[in-house]
Amino acid sequence: MTDLLIASVTSGFHKLYGYEPAGVWSAPGRVNLIGEHTDYNEGFVFPFAINRRTYAAISLRNDGLARVSSSFSPEVIDVPVDEITPESVAGWSAYPLGVAWALKQLAQAKQTGFDLYLESDVPVGAGLSSSAAIECAVAVALDELWQVGLDVRELARVGQLAENRIVGAPTGIMDQSASMLGQLDQGVFLDCRDLSAQKIDLGFAREGLELLVIDTRVEHRHANGGYASRRAACEAGAIALGLGSLRDATEADLARAAELLDNTTFRRVRHVVTENQRVLDTVATLRELGPRAIGRLLYASHQSMRDDFEISIDELDTAVETAMRHGAIGARMTGGGFGGAAIALCPIEKIGDITRSITAEFATLGYVAPNIFVVSAADGAHKN
Ligand code: ADP
Ligand code: MG
Repeated sequence: MTDLLIASVTSGFHKLYGYEPAGVWSAPGRVNLIGEHTDYNEGFVFPFAINRRTYAAISLRNDGLARVSSSFSPEVIDVPVDEITPESVAGWSAYPLGVAWALKQLAQAKQTGFDLYLESDVPVGAGLSSSAAIECAVAVALDELWQVGLDVRELARVGQLAENRIVGAPTGIMDQSASMLGQLDQGVFLDCRDLSAQKIDLGFAREGLELLVIDTRVEHRHANGGYASRRAACEAGAIALGLGSLRDATEADLARAAELLDNTTFRRVRHVVTENQRVLDTVATLRELGPRAIGRLLYASHQSMRDDFEISIDELDTAVETAMRHGAIGARMTGGGFGGAAIALCPIEKIGDITRSITAEFATLGYVAPNIFVVSAADGAHKN
Protein backbone atom coordinates (compact mmCIF):
# COMPACT_ATOMS: atom_id res chain seq x y z
CA MET A 1 0.00 0.00 0.00
CA THR A 2 2.77 2.39 0.98
CA ASP A 3 4.75 1.92 -2.24
CA LEU A 4 1.58 2.18 -4.29
CA LEU A 5 0.63 5.48 -2.69
CA ILE A 6 4.14 6.90 -3.12
CA ALA A 7 4.10 5.99 -6.83
CA SER A 8 0.59 7.32 -7.23
CA VAL A 9 1.18 10.65 -5.48
CA THR A 10 4.37 11.13 -7.52
CA SER A 11 2.65 10.48 -10.84
CA GLY A 12 -0.35 12.57 -9.75
CA PHE A 13 1.99 15.49 -9.06
CA HIS A 14 3.62 15.05 -12.46
CA LYS A 15 0.29 14.95 -14.27
CA LEU A 16 -0.92 18.07 -12.54
CA TYR A 17 2.16 20.29 -12.63
CA GLY A 18 4.13 18.82 -15.55
CA TYR A 19 7.38 18.05 -13.69
CA GLU A 20 8.77 15.75 -10.97
CA PRO A 21 8.30 16.59 -7.27
CA ALA A 22 11.42 17.25 -5.16
CA GLY A 23 10.27 14.49 -2.86
CA VAL A 24 7.41 12.76 -1.03
CA TRP A 25 6.84 13.17 2.70
CA SER A 26 4.16 11.35 4.70
CA ALA A 27 2.49 11.38 8.11
CA PRO A 28 0.02 9.02 9.80
CA GLY A 29 -3.42 9.44 11.30
CA ARG A 30 -3.82 8.40 14.92
CA VAL A 31 -6.15 6.56 17.24
CA ASN A 32 -6.57 7.41 20.91
CA LEU A 33 -6.13 4.23 22.96
CA ILE A 34 -7.27 5.89 26.20
CA GLY A 35 -7.59 9.38 27.75
CA GLU A 36 -10.71 11.16 26.53
CA HIS A 37 -11.62 14.78 27.36
CA THR A 38 -8.53 14.91 29.54
CA ASP A 39 -6.41 17.07 27.22
CA TYR A 40 -8.09 20.41 27.95
CA ASN A 41 -7.99 19.56 31.67
CA GLU A 42 -4.17 19.46 31.45
CA GLY A 43 -4.28 15.70 31.93
CA PHE A 44 -2.97 12.59 30.17
CA VAL A 45 -3.70 11.01 26.78
CA PHE A 46 -2.31 7.86 25.19
CA PRO A 47 -2.74 7.76 21.39
CA PHE A 48 -0.72 5.98 18.74
CA ALA A 49 0.09 6.73 15.11
CA ILE A 50 -1.64 4.28 12.74
CA ASN A 51 -0.70 2.50 9.53
CA ARG A 52 -2.84 4.86 7.43
CA ARG A 53 -0.98 7.85 6.02
CA THR A 54 -1.22 11.05 4.03
CA TYR A 55 1.46 11.48 1.34
CA ALA A 56 2.52 14.93 0.14
CA ALA A 57 4.53 15.34 -3.08
CA ILE A 58 6.13 18.80 -3.04
CA SER A 59 8.56 21.02 -4.93
CA LEU A 60 9.60 24.58 -4.22
CA ARG A 61 8.88 27.29 -6.79
CA ASN A 62 11.05 30.27 -7.65
CA ASP A 63 8.25 32.73 -7.01
CA GLY A 64 6.06 33.26 -3.95
CA LEU A 65 3.05 31.28 -5.14
CA ALA A 66 1.70 28.25 -3.24
CA ARG A 67 -0.40 25.80 -5.28
CA VAL A 68 -2.14 22.90 -3.55
CA SER A 69 -4.24 20.02 -4.82
CA SER A 70 -5.48 16.66 -3.48
CA SER A 71 -6.90 13.47 -4.95
CA PHE A 72 -9.73 14.12 -2.49
CA SER A 73 -10.75 17.31 -4.30
CA PRO A 74 -8.95 17.73 -7.61
CA GLU A 75 -9.05 21.49 -8.19
CA VAL A 76 -5.76 23.41 -7.80
CA ILE A 77 -5.95 26.20 -5.26
CA ASP A 78 -3.31 28.91 -5.39
CA VAL A 79 -2.41 31.81 -3.14
CA PRO A 80 0.80 33.81 -2.60
CA VAL A 81 2.55 32.42 0.51
CA ASP A 82 2.71 35.92 1.99
CA GLU A 83 -1.03 36.37 1.69
CA ILE A 84 -2.22 33.32 3.64
CA THR A 85 -4.71 34.43 6.32
CA PRO A 86 -7.80 32.80 7.87
CA GLU A 87 -9.86 34.88 5.41
CA SER A 88 -7.83 34.11 2.26
CA VAL A 89 -8.05 30.31 2.49
CA ALA A 90 -11.06 28.02 2.68
CA GLY A 91 -12.03 24.37 2.81
CA TRP A 92 -9.45 21.63 2.89
CA SER A 93 -6.65 23.88 1.58
CA ALA A 94 -6.59 25.61 4.99
CA TYR A 95 -4.71 22.58 6.38
CA PRO A 96 -1.63 22.62 4.08
CA LEU A 97 -1.63 26.40 3.57
CA GLY A 98 -2.13 26.91 7.31
CA VAL A 99 1.03 24.91 7.95
CA ALA A 100 3.03 27.17 5.60
CA TRP A 101 1.66 30.16 7.50
CA ALA A 102 2.36 28.63 10.92
CA LEU A 103 5.97 27.77 10.01
CA LYS A 104 6.46 31.43 9.21
CA GLN A 105 5.10 32.43 12.62
CA LEU A 106 7.28 30.05 14.60
CA ALA A 107 10.56 30.16 12.69
CA GLN A 108 12.79 32.27 10.53
CA ALA A 109 13.16 30.94 7.01
CA LYS A 110 13.39 32.14 3.47
CA GLN A 111 10.02 31.00 2.26
CA THR A 112 9.42 30.58 -1.43
CA GLY A 113 6.27 29.28 -2.99
CA PHE A 114 5.65 25.59 -3.60
CA ASP A 115 3.57 23.11 -5.59
CA LEU A 116 1.89 20.38 -3.54
CA TYR A 117 -0.24 17.34 -4.28
CA LEU A 118 -1.75 15.03 -1.61
CA GLU A 119 -3.01 11.46 -1.53
CA SER A 120 -4.18 9.67 1.60
CA ASP A 121 -5.65 6.45 2.93
CA VAL A 122 -6.63 7.94 6.30
CA PRO A 123 -10.43 7.80 6.56
CA VAL A 124 -11.78 11.35 6.75
CA GLY A 125 -13.91 12.39 9.72
CA ALA A 126 -13.75 8.96 11.43
CA GLY A 127 -11.88 10.35 14.42
CA LEU A 128 -8.54 9.12 13.08
CA SER A 129 -7.22 12.63 12.50
CA SER A 130 -6.89 12.90 8.76
CA SER A 131 -6.35 16.60 9.50
CA ALA A 132 -3.19 16.07 11.60
CA ALA A 133 -1.89 13.65 8.95
CA ILE A 134 -1.99 16.44 6.34
CA GLU A 135 -0.53 19.03 8.71
CA CYS A 136 2.37 16.85 9.81
CA ALA A 137 3.24 15.62 6.29
CA VAL A 138 3.35 19.21 5.04
CA ALA A 139 5.20 20.43 8.15
CA VAL A 140 8.08 17.93 7.76
CA ALA A 141 8.24 18.62 4.02
CA LEU A 142 8.40 22.41 4.25
CA ASP A 143 10.71 22.25 7.27
CA GLU A 144 13.21 20.36 5.12
CA LEU A 145 12.70 22.22 1.84
CA TRP A 146 12.78 25.65 3.49
CA GLN A 147 15.72 24.51 5.67
CA VAL A 148 14.00 25.58 8.87
CA GLY A 149 15.29 22.81 11.17
CA LEU A 150 12.56 22.57 13.83
CA ASP A 151 12.44 19.47 16.04
CA VAL A 152 9.47 17.08 16.07
CA ARG A 153 7.79 18.75 19.04
CA GLU A 154 8.02 22.18 17.43
CA LEU A 155 6.63 20.73 14.20
CA ALA A 156 3.67 19.30 16.14
CA ARG A 157 3.07 22.81 17.46
CA VAL A 158 3.20 24.15 13.86
CA GLY A 159 0.38 21.74 12.92
CA GLN A 160 -1.68 22.73 15.93
CA LEU A 161 -1.20 26.45 15.24
CA ALA A 162 -2.34 25.92 11.63
CA GLU A 163 -5.46 24.10 12.82
CA ASN A 164 -6.25 26.64 15.56
CA ARG A 165 -5.61 29.85 13.64
CA ILE A 166 -6.07 29.16 9.92
CA VAL A 167 -8.58 26.26 9.95
CA GLY A 168 -10.19 27.73 13.06
CA ALA A 169 -10.62 24.54 15.12
CA PRO A 170 -9.76 24.93 18.82
CA THR A 171 -7.99 21.56 19.14
CA GLY A 172 -5.23 20.47 21.52
CA ILE A 173 -1.86 19.05 20.52
CA MET A 174 -2.61 15.33 20.91
CA ASP A 175 -3.22 14.54 17.24
CA GLN A 176 -0.10 16.25 15.92
CA SER A 177 2.07 14.81 18.71
CA ALA A 178 0.97 11.28 17.86
CA SER A 179 1.44 11.86 14.12
CA MET A 180 4.93 13.36 14.59
CA LEU A 181 6.24 11.13 17.40
CA GLY A 182 4.65 7.78 16.59
CA GLN A 183 6.78 4.67 16.19
CA LEU A 184 6.20 1.09 15.10
CA ASP A 185 4.47 -0.85 17.93
CA GLN A 186 4.70 2.13 20.30
CA GLY A 187 2.08 4.31 21.94
CA VAL A 188 2.70 8.00 22.67
CA PHE A 189 1.96 8.78 26.33
CA LEU A 190 1.47 12.53 26.46
CA ASP A 191 1.23 14.84 29.44
CA CYS A 192 -0.95 17.72 28.22
CA ARG A 193 0.30 20.03 30.97
CA ASP A 194 4.00 20.19 30.06
CA LEU A 195 3.63 18.43 26.67
CA SER A 196 6.27 15.88 27.59
CA ALA A 197 5.86 12.62 25.69
CA GLN A 198 7.08 9.07 26.30
CA LYS A 199 6.97 6.15 23.92
CA ILE A 200 5.49 3.01 25.47
CA ASP A 201 5.77 -0.49 24.03
CA LEU A 202 2.27 -1.74 23.11
CA GLY A 203 3.20 -5.36 22.34
CA PHE A 204 -0.14 -6.12 20.61
CA ALA A 205 1.29 -8.29 17.81
CA ARG A 206 3.57 -10.20 20.19
CA GLU A 207 0.53 -11.11 22.32
CA GLY A 208 -1.60 -12.10 19.33
CA LEU A 209 -3.80 -9.00 19.58
CA GLU A 210 -5.12 -6.49 17.06
CA LEU A 211 -6.93 -3.22 17.51
CA LEU A 212 -10.20 -3.00 15.63
CA VAL A 213 -11.71 0.38 14.71
CA ILE A 214 -15.49 0.41 14.35
CA ASP A 215 -16.45 3.62 12.55
CA THR A 216 -20.20 4.00 13.17
CA ARG A 217 -20.35 6.56 10.34
CA VAL A 218 -22.57 8.63 12.59
CA GLU A 219 -21.43 12.22 12.29
CA HIS A 220 -20.68 13.93 15.57
CA ARG A 221 -24.30 14.96 16.35
CA HIS A 222 -24.76 18.11 18.48
CA ALA A 223 -21.06 17.91 19.03
CA ASN A 224 -20.39 21.62 19.36
CA GLY A 225 -22.92 22.31 22.11
CA GLY A 226 -22.03 19.01 23.77
CA TYR A 227 -18.30 19.75 23.87
CA ALA A 228 -18.80 23.32 25.08
CA SER A 229 -21.03 22.26 27.96
CA ARG A 230 -18.63 19.47 28.99
CA ARG A 231 -15.74 21.90 28.98
CA ALA A 232 -17.70 24.44 30.99
CA ALA A 233 -18.61 21.75 33.57
CA CYS A 234 -14.94 20.81 33.92
CA GLU A 235 -13.99 24.44 34.49
CA ALA A 236 -16.78 24.97 37.00
CA GLY A 237 -15.75 21.80 38.83
CA ALA A 238 -12.10 22.89 39.04
CA ILE A 239 -13.08 26.34 40.35
CA ALA A 240 -15.41 24.89 42.98
CA LEU A 241 -12.61 22.61 44.16
CA GLY A 242 -10.19 25.55 44.29
CA LEU A 243 -7.94 24.05 41.58
CA GLY A 244 -6.37 25.54 38.47
CA SER A 245 -7.46 22.51 36.47
CA LEU A 246 -8.93 19.04 37.07
CA ARG A 247 -5.46 17.61 36.48
CA ASP A 248 -4.78 18.47 40.10
CA ALA A 249 -7.77 16.54 41.45
CA THR A 250 -7.36 12.91 42.49
CA GLU A 251 -9.78 10.16 43.42
CA ALA A 252 -9.29 11.23 47.06
CA ASP A 253 -10.96 14.58 46.19
CA LEU A 254 -14.11 12.96 44.85
CA ALA A 255 -15.93 12.74 48.21
CA ARG A 256 -15.46 16.49 48.68
CA ALA A 257 -16.49 17.10 45.06
CA ALA A 258 -19.72 15.14 45.65
CA GLU A 259 -20.63 17.52 48.49
CA LEU A 260 -19.68 20.73 46.68
CA LEU A 261 -21.04 20.08 43.19
CA ASP A 262 -24.44 19.40 41.68
CA ASN A 263 -24.84 15.81 40.54
CA THR A 264 -24.22 16.45 36.82
CA THR A 265 -21.07 18.53 37.36
CA PHE A 266 -19.85 15.95 39.88
CA ARG A 267 -20.17 13.15 37.31
CA ARG A 268 -18.32 15.21 34.68
CA VAL A 269 -15.51 15.77 37.19
CA ARG A 270 -15.49 12.10 38.18
CA HIS A 271 -15.00 11.10 34.55
CA VAL A 272 -11.96 13.33 34.10
CA VAL A 273 -10.38 12.37 37.42
CA THR A 274 -10.85 8.63 36.93
CA GLU A 275 -9.90 8.80 33.22
CA ASN A 276 -6.57 10.45 34.07
CA GLN A 277 -5.93 7.63 36.54
CA ARG A 278 -6.90 5.04 33.90
CA VAL A 279 -4.33 6.46 31.48
CA LEU A 280 -1.62 6.18 34.14
CA ASP A 281 -2.82 2.67 35.02
CA THR A 282 -2.82 1.64 31.34
CA VAL A 283 0.80 2.73 30.93
CA ALA A 284 1.85 0.98 34.16
CA THR A 285 -0.11 -2.18 33.27
CA LEU A 286 1.43 -2.37 29.78
CA ARG A 287 4.89 -2.16 31.34
CA GLU A 288 4.24 -4.69 34.09
CA LEU A 289 1.74 -7.18 32.67
CA GLY A 290 1.38 -6.52 28.94
CA PRO A 291 -1.58 -5.61 26.73
CA ARG A 292 -3.89 -8.49 27.67
CA ALA A 293 -4.25 -6.87 31.10
CA ILE A 294 -5.48 -3.43 29.91
CA GLY A 295 -8.91 -4.57 28.74
CA ARG A 296 -10.77 -3.71 31.93
CA LEU A 297 -9.33 -0.18 31.82
CA LEU A 298 -10.56 0.33 28.25
CA TYR A 299 -14.03 -0.89 29.15
CA ALA A 300 -14.13 1.18 32.35
CA SER A 301 -13.25 4.22 30.22
CA HIS A 302 -16.26 3.48 28.03
CA GLN A 303 -18.61 3.12 31.00
CA SER A 304 -17.35 6.40 32.41
CA MET A 305 -17.97 8.23 29.12
CA ARG A 306 -21.39 6.62 28.76
CA ASP A 307 -22.65 7.15 32.32
CA ASP A 308 -20.68 10.04 33.82
CA PHE A 309 -19.63 12.20 30.87
CA GLU A 310 -22.70 11.19 28.81
CA ILE A 311 -21.09 11.51 25.38
CA SER A 312 -21.81 8.05 23.96
CA ILE A 313 -24.64 7.15 21.59
CA ASP A 314 -26.53 3.89 21.00
CA GLU A 315 -24.40 2.93 17.98
CA LEU A 316 -21.16 3.27 19.98
CA ASP A 317 -22.61 1.34 22.94
CA THR A 318 -23.78 -1.42 20.58
CA ALA A 319 -20.34 -1.68 18.97
CA VAL A 320 -18.62 -1.88 22.37
CA GLU A 321 -21.07 -4.35 23.96
CA THR A 322 -21.13 -6.63 20.90
CA ALA A 323 -17.33 -6.67 20.71
CA MET A 324 -17.11 -7.54 24.42
CA ARG A 325 -19.71 -10.31 24.12
CA HIS A 326 -17.79 -11.89 21.25
CA GLY A 327 -14.42 -12.01 22.94
CA ALA A 328 -12.80 -8.55 22.81
CA ILE A 329 -10.35 -8.00 25.67
CA GLY A 330 -11.55 -4.42 26.05
CA ALA A 331 -13.49 -1.86 24.03
CA ARG A 332 -14.47 1.79 24.25
CA MET A 333 -15.76 4.67 22.21
CA THR A 334 -12.87 6.88 21.14
CA GLY A 335 -12.72 10.57 20.24
CA GLY A 336 -14.91 13.44 21.31
CA GLY A 337 -18.19 11.52 21.35
CA PHE A 338 -21.77 11.91 20.01
CA GLY A 339 -20.75 9.80 17.00
CA GLY A 340 -17.51 8.67 15.37
CA ALA A 341 -15.69 5.45 16.19
CA ALA A 342 -15.20 2.81 18.85
CA ILE A 343 -12.11 0.64 19.30
CA ALA A 344 -11.85 -2.96 20.44
CA LEU A 345 -8.67 -4.79 21.47
CA CYS A 346 -9.18 -8.32 20.18
CA PRO A 347 -7.38 -11.66 19.98
CA ILE A 348 -6.52 -12.10 16.30
CA GLU A 349 -8.54 -15.30 16.00
CA LYS A 350 -11.69 -13.48 17.16
CA ILE A 351 -11.47 -10.56 14.69
CA GLY A 352 -13.65 -12.26 12.05
CA ASP A 353 -16.43 -13.21 14.45
CA ILE A 354 -16.42 -9.81 16.18
CA THR A 355 -16.55 -7.96 12.84
CA ARG A 356 -19.42 -10.10 11.54
CA SER A 357 -21.34 -9.85 14.82
CA ILE A 358 -21.16 -6.06 14.98
CA THR A 359 -22.19 -5.75 11.33
CA ALA A 360 -25.14 -8.10 11.92
CA GLU A 361 -26.21 -6.33 15.13
CA PHE A 362 -26.15 -2.93 13.38
CA ALA A 363 -28.29 -4.35 10.55
CA THR A 364 -30.80 -5.83 13.03
CA LEU A 365 -31.12 -2.50 14.83
CA GLY A 366 -31.51 -0.59 11.55
CA TYR A 367 -28.28 1.41 11.98
CA VAL A 368 -26.14 2.56 9.05
CA ALA A 369 -23.61 -0.19 8.18
CA PRO A 370 -20.38 0.45 10.13
CA ASN A 371 -16.93 0.56 8.58
CA ILE A 372 -14.71 -1.89 10.51
CA PHE A 373 -10.95 -2.30 10.07
CA VAL A 374 -7.74 -3.13 11.94
CA VAL A 375 -5.06 -0.54 12.70
CA SER A 376 -1.55 -1.02 14.03
CA ALA A 377 0.99 1.37 15.55
CA ALA A 378 3.22 2.85 12.85
CA ASP A 379 6.03 5.35 12.42
CA GLY A 380 5.44 9.08 12.60
CA ALA A 381 5.99 11.72 9.93
CA HIS A 382 9.04 11.31 7.68
CA LYS A 383 10.43 11.65 4.18
CA ASN A 384 9.69 8.65 1.95
P1 ADP B 1 -10.53 14.07 11.21
O1 ADP B 1 -9.25 14.79 11.49
O2 ADP B 1 -11.09 13.40 12.44
O3 ADP B 1 -10.46 13.12 10.07
P2 ADP B 1 -11.37 16.76 10.68
O4 ADP B 1 -12.71 17.38 10.51
O5 ADP B 1 -10.46 17.30 11.74
O6 ADP B 1 -11.61 15.18 10.85
O7 ADP B 1 -10.57 16.86 9.31
C1 ADP B 1 -11.17 16.44 8.12
C2 ADP B 1 -10.94 17.46 7.05
O8 ADP B 1 -9.56 17.41 6.63
C3 ADP B 1 -11.72 17.18 5.78
O9 ADP B 1 -13.01 17.74 5.86
C4 ADP B 1 -10.87 17.88 4.74
O10 ADP B 1 -11.08 19.27 4.74
C5 ADP B 1 -9.47 17.64 5.23
N1 ADP B 1 -8.87 16.44 4.63
C6 ADP B 1 -8.66 15.23 5.18
N2 ADP B 1 -8.04 14.39 4.33
C7 ADP B 1 -7.84 15.07 3.19
C8 ADP B 1 -7.22 14.80 1.92
N3 ADP B 1 -6.70 13.60 1.65
N4 ADP B 1 -7.20 15.77 0.99
C9 ADP B 1 -7.72 16.99 1.26
N5 ADP B 1 -8.30 17.31 2.42
C10 ADP B 1 -8.38 16.39 3.38
MG1 MG C 1 -9.06 16.42 12.93
